[in-house]
Amino acid sequence: MGELNGLAQEIAQWREGKGFVTNWEGMLAKLMLVVTEVSEAAEAVREDDREKFAEEIADTFIRLLDICGSMGIDIEAEIERKMEVNRGRPYRHGKKSQW
Ligand SMILES: [Mg+2]
Repeated sequence: MGELNGLAQEIAQWREGKGFVTNWEGMLAKLMLVVTEVSEAAEAVREDDREKFAEEIADTFIRLLDICGSMGIDIEAEIERKMEVNRGRPYRHGKKSQW
């Protein structure tokens, strides 16, 4: 098991120990909590607070890795598989926007 998958398992165990549940039935709520963390990161940008921004990005990853660890997602393999697809895409994916 790689570092990212190991961290996902560790976070899922920590979450379970705190009495919270992550499963398919509650996935919509969990995904919205990920969005909440991203929103907090956006708010930190608006406040020009880079320390808070880093913390909220960490929160976002923690929630995503909990989902991976709880749902049996091999996130390292999934990222590698998807990056292989992304590497094959054209410059800016053929669009004008830099975003
Ligand atoms: Mg947060």
